[in-house]
Amino acid sequence: MTDRYAVIGNPVAHSESPWIHARFARATGQDIEYLRIEAPRDGFAPALQEFRAAGGRGANVTLPFKEEALRRCASLSTRARAAGTANTLRFDEGGIWGDNTDGAGLMRDLVVNLGRRIAGARVLLAGAGGAAQGVLGALLEAGVARIVIANRTVARAVALAARHPGAPLAACGYGELAGESFDLVINATSAGLEGAALPLPAGVFARGALAYDMVYGRHTPFLAAARAAGAAAHDGSGMLVEQAAESFLAWRGVRPDTAPVLAELRAA
Ligand code: NAP
Repeated sequence: MTDRYAVIGNPVAHSESPWIHARFARATGQDIEYLRIEAPRDGFAPALQEFRAAGGRGANVTLPFKEEALRRCASLSTRARAAGTANTLRFDEGGIWGDNTDGAGLMRDLVVNLGRRIAGARVLLAGAGGAAQGVLGALLEAGVARIVIANRTVARAVALAARHPGAPLAACGYGELAGESFDLVINATSAGLEGAALPLPAGVFARGALAYDMVYGRHTPFLAAARAAGAAAHDGSGMLVEQAAESFLAWRGVRPDTAPVLAELRAA
C-alpha cells in the first residue's frame, strides 16, 4: 500500500513540498503519496489526528503550527528540542516523533551547495520567528565566532538569545547594528514576502560576505541591497530542498540526491 505523508499549515496552497517529495520518491523508488492539508488556525490537533487515523505515516508542519506540533510529540530529536519547534513528524508505533530539519537544511545549503566555511564567521541573523529559532542551534554548532540576532520586535530577539545561555550571542534592533559588519547575513524574516526591505545600516556586509534570504523564488529587496553592496546573494531554495531531504531521510531511511531537484526548482 502507498504510504501517505502531508504538509499541514495555513495557508498551505503555495507549498512546494508535494512537488519536491514527489521527485524524491521517483528518484529513490519509494512508493509514497504526499498531500497538502490546510488546517483551520484553531484546528491543528484534529487535522493531525484525522490524517494519522486515516493511515498517514508522517507530516511536515509549516506556519503557524510548528510550536504546537512540538507539543503533540511523544518524543523529539535533540535539534527539535533545542529549537522549540517541529517541522517534521513521524507517526511511530509508540507515538509521534518530532524533528526540526530547518537548521540542517540551511547548513547543508551553505556548506555543501554554496561551498561556504561557517566556522569562525561573524553572523547576523535577521528575524526571531520560527525560522530563526529553527536554525540558531545549527549555526552555533558549526562554530561561528559570534551571532547577532536583530529583529523588528527586539524583545523576541532577546528571548531567542536567552534560549542559548553562554553562547556567543547578542540581540538588538536594526538601529543598533550601525558600525558592525558580518561575513554571513541571514534574512530569516518574512519581510521579502511583502516586498519590504530590512532597515540594515550601510556597511553591514563585510568584504566577501554572503547574504542569504530564506524566502525563495523572489527577487527580494534584501537580496538587491546585498548585491548592491557587493555581497554574494542567494535565496532560500536550497534550504527548502535540503530540509525536505532531511525529512525524507527521517521517514524513508534514504537521503535523496538534492542537486537535480534544486536545479529543476530554480529553472521553474
Ligand atoms: P514567523 O515566525 O512569522 O516570523 C516572521 C519574522 O519576520 C519575525 O521575526 C518578524 O518580526 C519578521 N518580519 C515580518 N515582516 C517584517 C518586516 N516587514 N520587516 C522586518 N521584519 C519583519 O515566520 P518564520 O516561520 O520565522 O518564517 C520566516 C520566513 O522564512 C518565511 O518567509 C518563510 O517562508 C521562510 N522560511 C523558509 C524556509 C526555507 O526552507 N527556505 C524555511 C523556513 C522558513 P517581528 O517579530 O517583529 O514580527
